[in-house]
Amino acid sequence: MICIYCSSSYIVLNGHDNKGVQRYKCNDCHRRFCEKGIFVRHRFSKEIIINAIFLRSFPLSTRNVKRILKKIEFVKVSHVSIYNWVVKFAPYLIKLSLIKPINFSSIWHVDEKFIHVKGSKDPHAYLWIVSDSNSNIIAIHVSFERDCNNAKIVLQKAKEISGFSPEIIISDGLKGYKRACKKVFGRKTRHVIAHFEAVGIVHNKKLMKLSNNRAERINEFPALWLHVCRGFKRLDRAILFIEFFVINYNYLMEHPSKEKPKVEWEMVESIMRK
Ligand SMILES: [Zn+2]
Repeated sequence: MICIYCSSSYIVLNGHDNKGVQRYKCNDCHRRFCEKGIFVRHRFSKEIIINAIFLRSFPLSTRNVKRILKKIEFVKVSHVSIYNWVVKFAPYLIKLSLIKPINFSSIWHVDEKFIHVKGSKDPHAYLWIVSDSNSNIIAIHVSFERDCNNAKIVLQKAKEISGFSPEIIISDGLKGYKRACKKVFGRKTRHVIAHFEAVGIVHNKKLMKLSNNRAERINEFPALWLHVCRGFKRLDRAILFIEFFVINYNYLMEHPSKEKPKVEWEMVESIMRK
């Protein structure tokens, strides 16, 4: 057993609560917690909560998750609870990217798509996605403007997460990319503008055909998944849910353009149970 707040193993028994549940105290951060760990003060068991989050990782609305839980687990949960569980527990899942970092390839794609977030001037906000040629999402960013500054932010984020600059980055024709790429990656990274039609370039003495189809295809999945969210009321929630999606996409989802999931859902459970 480790502390749920600071992960210290320096914990001692601290009596029982009125229901007889063992309580613990952390000698490092001096906080108290009980056996249920992060699931404390929830009416439903952790199995039900984990199942709800697992189901929500598919393109299923919280209302549909509610219906499935009723049929399979015989419990009546409100769709608002399911939403709140995702908000509370998604940050634990997002830790997966620190526990199991991915080796990204050196050919990247960057693309933007529209999403609905309340508060944007027009009804759209922009979701920026940087992905690699192995269909992994490297970084995301959500902004109200589609300009060079925001392109820089997402590219910088991708560089920090992967720990390197790509050899080639493929983007659509948005003007800001050229300057943003040069600023963030320097001159060694080759910036290629391509759309659906492949552009032939010579790289490392090899002829390569590059198009942005892969990025467009990767964007189809968030589109499907985001569709059931029906837009977001707040920017921070939009980012949280999309990061939750990225973890699903990179580690847990199975789909035709990708190999097998990188981790089993059991690993996610073990992270959450800690
Ligand atoms: Zn602690």
